Amino acid sequence: MPGFEFFGAEEKKEVNDVLNTGILMRYGFDGARQGMWKAQELEQEVCKTFGSKYAHLTSSGTAALTTAFAALGIGAGDEVIMPAFTFVASFEAVLSTGAIPVLVDIDDTLTLSPAAVKAAITPQTKCIMPVHMCGSMADLDALKDICKEHNLLLVEDACQSIGGTYKGQKLGTIGDAGTFSFDFVKTITCGEGGVVMTNNEDVLTKCDGYTDHGHDHLGVDRGADLHPFIGYNFRISELHAAVGLAQIRKLDTFLSIQKKTHKKLKNILSTVPEISFRRVPDADGDSCTFISWFLPTEELTRAFVTEMKAQAVMPGNFYWFDNNWHYIKKWEHLKKAKSLFNLSLDQQLHLMSLDKQDFSASDAIMSRCISTAISLLWSDEQIEAKGNKIVEVVKKVLG
Ligand SMILES: *Cc1c(COP(=O)(O)O)cnc(C)c1O
Repeated sequence: MPGFEFFGAEEKKEVNDVLNTGILMRYGFDGARQGMWKAQELEQEVCKTFGSKYAHLTSSGTAALTTAFAALGIGAGDEVIMPAFTFVASFEAVLSTGAIPVLVDIDDTLTLSPAAVKAAITPQTKCIMPVHMCGSMADLDALKDICKEHNLLLVEDACQSIGGTYKGQKLGTIGDAGTFSFDFVKTITCGEGGVVMTNNEDVLTKCDGYTDHGHDHLGVDRGADLHPFIGYNFRISELHAAVGLAQIRKLDTFLSIQKKTHKKLKNILSTVPEISFRRVPDADGDSCTFISWFLPTEELTRAFVTEMKAQAVMPGNFYWFDNNWHYIKKWEHLKKAKSLFNLSLDQQLHLMSLDKQDFSASDAIMSRCISTAISLLWSDEQIEAKGNKIVEVVKKVLG
């Protein structure tokens, strides 16, 4: 799955370009940097690779989401509808802008259920945020229709689906804004980093200023910049951008390995009629970082997990239902609104209501779901061994 498995001479070369000048910052020092603008170069490469008109790098994927919300004017009192299965960063970003994360059910795509989204719309709803989990996409046509009907913004959290597509368009470039994370375990890595993509120049300009203390970047030097609005520091460093530059050039290789491995694993798992697979709205667009599949019941799935652990072969297979990071069931800190500082009253009230909200539709899916992470380094023999082991254990628990 992650680009760190393919770290080598290319990354070192790009980083050394930066170390040789000593200019680790993306702005200024024009003479001393000897023509090295790694962050700018990576932004151009992101636009070229994913087909977005504009891209702005950030210090993390979380910062990219926060920046996208800010640039789109999402803040206090606004509700952002998002899925109950995601990484914690998605709601962290919503909360950090003062908006309210409205968590709703997922369906068998493992992403937002369009029906659940419709049911959650209120006069305060400002934005729908699908999260393209585990390499594959939400039903974007259905979500776009809802946005159009209710005049809502669409922000794609595509942090886990770099290189995935939907009907020919790259995930992350379809909404009003979309984000990738380049953290250490993502499909391509900068070590830490992220990006906001958009086709709207005004959104880009706001992202550019927001991530650098509101600087308009129009002065003759940083001291002469004006500050048309308040910003923060979510800048990426040149060192991190340099790593990403080497990685993005390898993306096609990563994707083709993932797709081949996914196909082989699917063929092996498909030999068991009790195994079913995640629904993928556009099967050709799956980036194939994982293969996600279901057993018929929670009981069988738990028995599978227990047996895999007993045989010490569970690593690489994720049972998100019991995982602290990815599913509402274990987000006690969120449900108790445990913030270090005072959240707004409407944020607190909404978070405290999550404990009583019915997520049984999501539970029914997540409790039967296993995601098997796909490594870039497996040999054909290893792929077969991994698949055969899953089949063997599933058959054992089926009895
Ligand atoms: C990784 C991830 C993020 C945030 O990324 P960081 O770069 O780690 O801040 C956001 N959303 C999802 C779904 C992710 O998997």
